[in-house]
Amino acid sequence: MKVILLRFGELYLKGNNRRIFENILIKNIECALQNIEHKFYETCGRYIISNYQDGLEDEIVERLTKVFGLYSLSRAEEIDATIDEINSSIRRINCQDKTFKVFVKRADKSFPLSSMDLAKALGDEVLKNNKNSAVDLYNPQMEIHVDIRLNKKAYIFTDTIKCQGGLPLGSSGRGLLLLSGGIDSPVSGYLIAKRGLKIDALHFQSYPYTSIEAKEKVIELANELKSYIGEFKLHIVSFTKVQEAIHMNCAPEYMITIMRRIMMRVAEEICHQNSLGAIVTGESLGQVASQTMQSMTVTGSVIKSLPIFRPCIAMDKEEIMSIAEKIGTYKTSILPYEDCCTVFLPKNPVIKPTIDKAEKEEGYLNIDQLVKECLQTKEVIDI
Ligand code: ATP
Ligand code: MG
Repeated sequence: MKVILLRFGELYLKGNNRRIFENILIKNIECALQNIEHKFYETCGRYIISNYQDGLEDEIVERLTKVFGLYSLSRAEEIDATIDEINSSIRRINCQDKTFKVFVKRADKSFPLSSMDLAKALGDEVLKNNKNSAVDLYNPQMEIHVDIRLNKKAYIFTDTIKCQGGLPLGSSGRGLLLLSGGIDSPVSGYLIAKRGLKIDALHFQSYPYTSIEAKEKVIELANELKSYIGEFKLHIVSFTKVQEAIHMNCAPEYMITIMRRIMMRVAEEICHQNSLGAIVTGESLGQVASQTMQSMTVTGSVIKSLPIFRPCIAMDKEEIMSIAEKIGTYKTSILPYEDCCTVFLPKNPVIKPTIDKAEKEEGYLNIDQLVKECLQTKEVIDI
């Protein structure tokens, strides 16, 4: 019978909490495979997917490779652990023109041959059945694994597919991703979700200064993230009034600083309303004026009760872009629609703002009222 063997990653380090992590991961795996008929069970310390339609194996593998907390998986054949069955399974493996090594693991010590003897016998069997194959114990082109378990079953597999690793989604709590239409924030969402944070997202739009297409682009990005982070809520609020107010009343070089501070306050309020415990942004140190150390100090200083996570903080744009390509958000991110931060963009944004000066500029605004009005425009989309 064809099966898929699953290996859990880092959560084995979690001591007594392991069971909690494992249960979350199991639920997430079930969730990823919903609407595909299958069996999912643990046997002898192994998690196994079986009883699925042959044609759906690729789809199952594809979905599982996006589940955080899974370390790797293998497509395997499950057979009765007898020498005859193992031999005939090994004979079906195509190893022509390749070097190979047989790895035997024997949890069932009552099996009549030792691991070494079985590996050797199976190696001979492979050599007999494949032209131009050769054993290479150090750098084989193909690994043939035979795993004999206590349930008297053997699992034969030749491939190991790497998954995401990380921690099960939800095991680190829940947070709010500030999602712009750019390259960095979707990557940040992916990276923080990989560390177990389940996220909702918040987008600020400046309609009519920004277009309907800009909003649709963000919804598209949210949908692209979904295969990794599951279903979530995308909060969209209008930032137009806030920007107009800042533009009319504050020093131009502080425009972006004040915008960011108001974004943070709105985000914090949405976190409180939805029991979210962290704010996540796509900022990267020094990337633009608003992402200097001083800018982040001034922006972050309005948040008193939550941590701000910036997973891209130490990454080069190139590195961020390559992750965006890997997770499939890059093409959408580079569509040329403007972001609210490009509206009323000052010529010379301040690079080293201070909290005092920001507070002084904010004195010309009714911040509480602006935040309140911004929240009143909130639309929630279920992704
Ligand atoms: P990105 O590629 O994520 O847009 P960026 O390099 O364009 O990032 P900025 O525009 O300075 O950087 O934004 C920094 C961070 O602020 C973004 O990564 C995002 O988390 C947040 N942000 C910016 N604009 C918006 C917006 N319109 N809605 C929600 N969050 C935003
Ligand atoms: Mg942006």
